[in-house]
Amino acid sequence: LIQVRNLVKEFEGQTVLSDIHLDLQEGDVRVLMGASGSGKSTLLRCLNRLVEPTSGSILFRGKEILGPDVDVRELRKQIGFVFQQFALYSHLTVLDNVTLGLQKLQGMNKAMAKERALLELSHFDMIAHQDKYPSQISGGQKQRVAIARALAMDPAVLVLDEPTSALDPVMSRDVADLVNRLHGEEITMICVTHDLHFARNIADTVMFLDRGVIRADDCIDVLSQHSDPIIQAFFQNEKK
Ligand code: ATP
Ligand code: MG
Repeated sequence: LIQVRNLVKEFEGQTVLSDIHLDLQEGDVRVLMGASGSGKSTLLRCLNRLVEPTSGSILFRGKEILGPDVDVRELRKQIGFVFQQFALYSHLTVLDNVTLGLQKLQGMNKAMAKERALLELSHFDMIAHQDKYPSQISGGQKQRVAIARALAMDPAVLVLDEPTSALDPVMSRDVADLVNRLHGEEITMICVTHDLHFARNIADTVMFLDRGVIRADDCIDVLSQHSDPIIQAFFQNEKK
């Protein structure tokens, strides 16, 4: 579905991603881990061109997405994003958070957008909260709404950047269940997380990024026994 080849990103002469290769197949749930500053968010952001790579190639369904004549709006409909924070517009209700993109990006009229949004919110048990503002719901509920909003757009891929970092373990479990349910529905996902429990719960394989280089790409049990000292140290730190 997505093939990343020789991807390089430099910020002001500093190499943040060097020669990244990544293949995402339809139905995959891939986790990306690595120390803070290793380039995880930058890599995700390249996928829908929130960040412009310095060089390299990203194919989506076999077509290059880095060219100048690519329709970035169209691309962003296909590649749904869920951010760690500021995920929802605080001045809009839960319902309006979901309908906004449907109206603005998909061009739906208000009634259609509402119908679609309510359907998606019902999948996430959020109907009762539709008229609340983000400040009136819990962190886990906010993430559910953010994921519902992304999925309402029917993306081909769902990209999640630390969806559980603001959550307590119970809520994080909740989001993991949700991701697993989506996995069962064959939704393709790539997710950054620092949370090993969460990663264990959801991942097919984990890619480990270190200073812009993918050092390993394997199932988590293999990684947790990995001989690479940098990977080992990471797992030890996380075990607490
Ligand atoms: P974290 O786990 O803390 O979220 P990360 O792995 O997501 O970290 P990135 O946000 O991808 O890390 O950042 C990687 C490096 O790129 C960092 O050194 C950061 O300072 C740098 N960087 C990111 N965005 C920019 C930018 N817009 N301009 C300059 N440097 C940037
Ligand atoms: Mg990040």
